[in-house]
Amino acid sequence: MRVPLNDLQRACHRDGDAIAAAMARVVARGRVLFGPETAAFEAAFAAYCGTSHCLGVGNGTDALELALRALGVGPGDEVVTVANGGFYATTAILAVGARPRFADIDPGTLTLSPVALAGALTPRTRAIIVTHLYGRLADMDGVLDAAGTIPVIEDCAQAHGAQRRGRRAGAFGAIGCFSFYPTKNLGALGDAGAVVTSDAALADRLGALRQYGWGDKYVVARAGGRNSRMDEIQAAVLTLRLPALDDANARRRAIIARYHAAVPAPVPDWASPVGLDDVAHLAVVRSPDRARLAAALARAGVDTAIHYPVPDHHQPALRPLLAGPVSLPVTEQATAQILTLPCFPEMTEDEVVHVAAALADVWVHPA
Ligand SMILES: *Cc1c(COP(=O)(O)O)cnc(C)c1O
Repeated sequence: MRVPLNDLQRACHRDGDAIAAAMARVVARGRVLFGPETAAFEAAFAAYCGTSHCLGVGNGTDALELALRALGVGPGDEVVTVANGGFYATTAILAVGARPRFADIDPGTLTLSPVALAGALTPRTRAIIVTHLYGRLADMDGVLDAAGTIPVIEDCAQAHGAQRRGRRAGAFGAIGCFSFYPTKNLGALGDAGAVVTSDAALADRLGALRQYGWGDKYVVARAGGRNSRMDEIQAAVLTLRLPALDDANARRRAIIARYHAAVPAPVPDWASPVGLDDVAHLAVVRSPDRARLAAALARAGVDTAIHYPVPDHHQPALRPLLAGPVSLPVTEQATAQILTLPCFPEMTEDEVVHVAAALADVWVHPA
């Protein structure tokens, strides 16, 4: 048996008839942008997240960039973020002409450490981007506490629906940014993204910035505009998939729980059960001997990957732009140890059993 890391064909086949009907509806209407499908999805997703506003945009990276622009971040400003989040936040920070300042992560959750955040703030810090990595809500109490009056942007691209004390990802900070890239917990049929906020003034600015900075049509009221829209077909697909999100997240959590149970404790990062604050976007295990683990799983037919193999501060394109050496010992150690196992809601029972057995076997017979 070969178990893939993901298989998008399964969800496409399952939803095929509903998707075809949604597309036919859009085609029949002939309205392909800013129509009723986008409005319906924006309303449904804002309600789901518990925010007053949601604006559809082109993708998750645009969502982050527009959030920074809406907060007035630009050249000369610094934005604090983590270096293990796949360079998406850094891409957005560089796109607005600001500089990333990296803070280290918590060794338990691999998300932004509030203590490290406090140490990374400078008089030039204009915003903070916190990544809810692998589906895990970061320590938002600690992050907001350390941030004080500096606005916090949540990168929720891996954390759709994660909740703590009844509050969902995207509803903690000033702006929540989502990607609906097809492999995400809520995925479109191509690129799509969204920003959510409960601040009416920010929503207003985001609405202008996603369409050339327009106030009225063809009147550029706000500088720094972009063209980044969600189209009607993607919105229709997302609306039909949103009601299944919580169940799909529960299935992801159950898969990780099975992997936990297969591996004898203590395994770093795998001690605690997966709660509602973790939507299990990726099943990431840590091993001091990752190469051996990956090779053994490959022999058992289990696909693995590394999210992410190069931390932002070591990316070749960024290095020349950094002022000096960056010290992130927890990030560095995690980067050397992490390994992603198959985890997607459409996995069959046989596949889950197969991965769990392979994992147990490797752990019990390490040589
Ligand atoms: C996927 C992802 C993004 C970027 O989303 P796109 O839609 O691909 O631009 C941003 N942040 C994180 C954490 C992601 O996983």
